[in-house]
Amino acid sequence: MTEKYLSMWKDLKLDINAHDQLLKTLGNSYRDIYLAQNNRPGGIKYFDFVMNEVHGLRIKELMDEKEQGRKIIGSFCVFVPEEIVLAANATLVGLCTGADFDVEKVERYLPRNTCSLIKSAMGFKLGRVCPYLETADMIVGENTCDGKKKAYESLDAMVDNLYVMDLPQMKSEKGRDLLKSEYMRFQKSVEELTGVKITFDSLKEAIKTVNDKRSALHRLAELRQSDPAPISGLDALLANQISFYDNPARFTESLNRICDELEIRIKENQSLKSKKIPRILISGCPMAIPNWKLPWITETSGAVIVGEESCVGERGARNLTDDSGADRDELMDAITDRYFKVDCAIFTPNKDRLNHIMEMVKTYKADGVIHYGLQFCQPYLMESIPVEKALEAQDIPCLRIETDYGMEDAGQLKTRVEAFIEQLQ
Ligand code: SF4
Ligand code: SF4
Repeated sequence: MTEKYLSMWKDLKLDINAHDQLLKTLGNSYRDIYLAQNNRPGGIKYFDFVMNEVHGLRIKELMDEKEQGRKIIGSFCVFVPEEIVLAANATLVGLCTGADFDVEKVERYLPRNTCSLIKSAMGFKLGRVCPYLETADMIVGENTCDGKKKAYESLDAMVDNLYVMDLPQMKSEKGRDLLKSEYMRFQKSVEELTGVKITFDSLKEAIKTVNDKRSALHRLAELRQSDPAPISGLDALLANQISFYDNPARFTESLNRICDELEIRIKENQSLKSKKIPRILISGCPMAIPNWKLPWITETSGAVIVGEESCVGERGARNLTDDSGADRDELMDAITDRYFKVDCAIFTPNKDRLNHIMEMVKTYKADGVIHYGLQFCQPYLMESIPVEKALEAQDIPCLRIETDYGMEDAGQLKTRVEAFIEQLQ
């Protein structure tokens, strides 16, 4: 792949040596974690292909789109509505924040005790290794947690196209009004960037495209409720991760094909594993590509992950947008209502998230919950305590994990996860 796309990466001013190193590490992890799995559905080969070409063919597609005048918008958070972006004839891509890069340089801009996710975003920019960041015509940040808020001030000095969205922190009427006004402001900025006026028809069509994508993810989630689970948590996580990068219509079609296959597996009672194994729900911080450490440890310790209460998972994908509005403003209201239901830990109080975790345990027939908090992530680490207490009150075992993107604690984590799984058995 290196030779084929070298001139494109040079045009994007990537640091070619550092980028080669990153691709090598990514490729090795993918081989050891993903390709080492048994009994994967045949359709998953498409996702293997996407991962293989994540810095190659997909970037080439985006560059071709740019050449035809289409704009690319990068985002760090599930609060950025893809519907608005698509309606203005632009493309939304998620920006990787799932691996450490250039940590030493990052710590010249951010304190050491910043979560890995924020450090990763900064490291990819400082190290010039992310073609998505370099392709984007607009990078959207958001005022969610304090760490992100302040880090965007540093990022702003490094790029000339950062747009920051102000997000509410309370699920109140005022909070909803703020979100709506921020989406109206975003819509205007996207229109200015693209030179395309968002119409009722274009917004309705964009809502349909994104709803179709989310419906395919819901279908996958429902199939995972079967016992035994028809697909590994790792592969299901991959589907959720790729949903942020791939062309939405193509992704929907490919995921639906995998779901057709899983339906047959369930009908024919084909099991992923030869014996019954504990079912785990993962809850907490989002896991962006290539953050596979905890799921990999969990699934190689004798359990299967059946659901993710996460932004790269059900928290991010769960609700559809009502497309029955009679005009553009009603559709914008429907978009606001859909996103206002996202129960990120930056909200206070955030009872909805707790209720959602309990509901997911039941729906997915989970035997236990692993709460995943990134080190130094105050919102999710703070919430992990009430989550654990609520689960304990219902006799649902819970393991609280606090980790980062490094592999130094992998052995210790494995010991704790294995002991937890043994307890569930
Ligand atoms: S956890 Fe919160 S800040 Fe992070 S992606 Fe989700 S909604 Fe955005
Ligand atoms: S919410 Fe937590 S994990 Fe997400 S960016 Fe903020 S500190 Fe990091």
